[in-house]
Amino acid sequence: AKEEGRNRFHYFTASMQEAAQARVELINDLRGALQKNEFRLLYQPIVDPGSGRVHKAEALIRWQHPERGQVSPLDFIPIAEETGLIVEIGNWVFREAAKQARVWRQCHSPDFQISINTSPLQLHAEGICTGEWYDYLQALELPGAAIAIEITEGLLMENSFATRLLEIQRLGIEVSLDDFGTGYSSMSYLKKFDIDYLKIDKSFVRNLRPGSSDHALCEAMIVMAHKLGLKVIAEGIETSAQLGLLSDTGCDYGQGYYFARPMTQTEFDDYLKKSTAP
Ligand code: C2E
Ligand code: CA
Ligand code: CA
Ligand code: CA
Repeated sequence: AKEEGRNRFHYFTASMQEAAQARVELINDLRGALQKNEFRLLYQPIVDPGSGRVHKAEALIRWQHPERGQVSPLDFIPIAEETGLIVEIGNWVFREAAKQARVWRQCHSPDFQISINTSPLQLHAEGICTGEWYDYLQALELPGAAIAIEITEGLLMENSFATRLLEIQRLGIEVSLDDFGTGYSSMSYLKKFDIDYLKIDKSFVRNLRPGSSDHALCEAMIVMAHKLGLKVIAEGIETSAQLGLLSDTGCDYGQGYYFARPMTQTEFDDYLKKSTAP
């Protein structure tokens, strides 16, 4: 048994070494990925179910790795955060989304808005919002409202956030609270900050049925958000039944595979052409 234990110990050491090695390689590759133009943004429509209008989309990053193929953001965003690379990547996402929002504002809908995911660390980088983002919006002659940033609940509790939020809002950029209901957020933060959208997390939508506890929770979140002046976006809508329940409850926007999967810019162009209302 002792021998076995030792072998097992060696086995784990070897695999841990491999894992560490793979991680180092991934970090190195990630450092070069921006220069090598390996990132892409996919776009998923955010639909107003009442009118069928599509004038919002969420940008979702993809990394096309030369050997590994497509790497999920769930696998590389945490590494980008740990290494600080997220700041540069985040700025790339902002620029890319702004350029695209400008195009869709011109040829689809003048109030088109692209929402981008942001990491807390990115917003801590001093002056990023006022500096780089401001300059870029100016250069494109694009109003800030062409962009919304999605933040997660934890950020609301950080001391520096109030200042950052003011900087962001001064640019006209809107703010969306992502994954709502999954974090530690207290309702009082919603009162304290002037946030524009609340995104109901897909975990509440997945098993949504009439009379279920998820139904009650969605309803409560929507009523509360509306009383506080926020619009509500439900994510992860996959069926017409889920959509029906949510829009009956007054949900303002829906997003999910039921409408469309995240798409390339070209696919999204086709989708916009086919969508009934501008
Ligand atoms: P998220 O912000 O919660 O994004 C929604 C995720 O749900 C996306 O996964 C999307 O593809 C997926 N999704 C959309 N509709 C449905 C549906 O109907 N059913 C289900 N089951 N899933 C749906 P994705 O693209 O893999 O992104 C994962 C996470 O990576 C995102 O979660 C976000 O936190 C992060 N992420 C993506 N792009 C960026 C980025 O540019 N910057 C940062 N910092 N994080 C990003
Ligand atoms: Ca999001
Ligand atoms: Ca989410
Ligand atoms: Ca507001």
